Amino acid sequence: MVSRVIPVETFDLVIFGGTGDLARRKILPGLFRRFLAGQMPESSRIIGAARSELDADGYRKMIADAVAEFGGEESSNTKALQTFLERLDYVAIDAKGDGGWADLAKLVRPDVIQAFYFSVAPSLFGDLAERLHTNGIATEHSRIVVEKPFGRDLASAHALNATLAEHFDEKQIYRIDHYLGKETVQNLMAIRFGNVLFEPLWNNHYVDHIQITVSETVGVTGRGAYYDRSGAMRDMVQNHLMQLLCLIAMEPPGEFEADAVRDEKLKVIRALQPIDNHHIVRGQYDAGPDSQSYREDVENPRSFTESFIAMRCHIANWRWAGVPFYLRTGKKMKARSSEIAVVFKDLGHTIFEGDEARHRNILSIRLQPNEGIDLQVTIKEPGPGGMRLIDVPLDMTFADALGDDAEEVPDAYERLIMDVIRGNQTLFMRGDEVEAAWRWTDPLIEGWEARNDVPKLYEPGSAGPEDAMMLLHRDGRKWRDIKG
Ligand code: NAD
Repeated sequence: MVSRVIPVETFDLVIFGGTGDLARRKILPGLFRRFLAGQMPESSRIIGAARSELDADGYRKMIADAVAEFGGEESSNTKALQTFLERLDYVAIDAKGDGGWADLAKLVRPDVIQAFYFSVAPSLFGDLAERLHTNGIATEHSRIVVEKPFGRDLASAHALNATLAEHFDEKQIYRIDHYLGKETVQNLMAIRFGNVLFEPLWNNHYVDHIQITVSETVGVTGRGAYYDRSGAMRDMVQNHLMQLLCLIAMEPPGEFEADAVRDEKLKVIRALQPIDNHHIVRGQYDAGPDSQSYREDVENPRSFTESFIAMRCHIANWRWAGVPFYLRTGKKMKARSSEIAVVFKDLGHTIFEGDEARHRNILSIRLQPNEGIDLQVTIKEPGPGGMRLIDVPLDMTFADALGDDAEEVPDAYERLIMDVIRGNQTLFMRGDEVEAAWRWTDPLIEGWEARNDVPKLYEPGSAGPEDAMMLLHRDGRKWRDIKG
């Protein structure tokens, strides 16, 4: 099989914060891979713009080092890397002042696709948007890419939307959530809307419940100050998990087009019911035999911030009435794993005598590691001795099923950047979606902050606090094992 590389038009991509951690670790190594895949027309340019006083050669050197460190195998292609680096330029710029803007104006061409990636602190988004206009750089066709976090509550997200809207139309704004750029996430839509098998079962007649788990093994070391002000709800649930929930639960859009898809996702968020306290479990990791506790990691001995959260949600519409959606995410868990599991209902009646086990079909969609899909089906246990049933997976790990093509699958950031260049907003969050998500999470957060709710401690390397297990046990269900 040969992957199809869809050509893109010539572009100027300006990366504000081009010397930062995200640019060096993800954005530029990703762009180099797209360059290798032939998706960077010869006259396209990438312009780093940041505070450091560098010249273009200094920046190329920095990016050569970054690609060597974070770029994987491809970085050994030194000849190609050299050609890629020649397309890089750099401007030292002050987002809050006048320095560098005239130089940037000279570099950005008005007659090619212009994209401006705001890979800087959100407090600078407004300054950048304004200066792109006052310096006559942005046009009505320019696109801006905005990193997360997009606000920390409804009020701040609304204010940020309003600021960006002063200078850019919604069609020009690409709010990035790298989860949406993952191959499997897009496959969710292909599976649901490209097969006749699943859609008829995708409702409360056949689905018992759905579990969404995003677990990490790392703690918060390194970004403790930011994390302690956010917690798992703001950092993971409000964006990534809710986006996954939307894709799983949404109605089929009329067409595969950005606003059609986003309209349907928005309806899901709006249909989410408020959750009461009994259906939320917040946790904080404890110290382990050779690791620090959360509070030690964030250097805040009185922190009430959650590094784990589990919750039971309901969507108030005809399709999902009565079907719980269990969400959980946490740090310092037993394995790094992201999975969506659609657990189907029991058979109404079993014809197999003596078969007491409950056999359920489970469709599991793995986002990481080993992106893939498996469907648990029930078969006869091989061998003599009557009709005994066992459950086996119909497993499709993309790397196995697609061979070399799977290796060529672009990583989330590079795919999303190419979507920006192509002008495709399907995998980016619209302003009203982000606000609707905050509208749902705000009262929950305000509730536990007002109560000074203390998160339950959990052992590092575990599946979270005991109470999270109870959340499902009480409903006669259990969490799927977290496997790395
Ligand atoms: P960073 O601190 O490593 O880099 C910040 C960049 O902004 C630097 O290039 C710096 O020169 C530039 N900058 C700072 N002040 C400036 C100013 N006044 N004028 C011009 N440039 C200025 O930050 P980062 O980790 O790369 O994160 C960038 C953005 O991406 C943030 O919004 C962050 O929340 C988001 N993000 C980062 C990650 C990650 O893995 N690092 C992941 C998700 C989202």
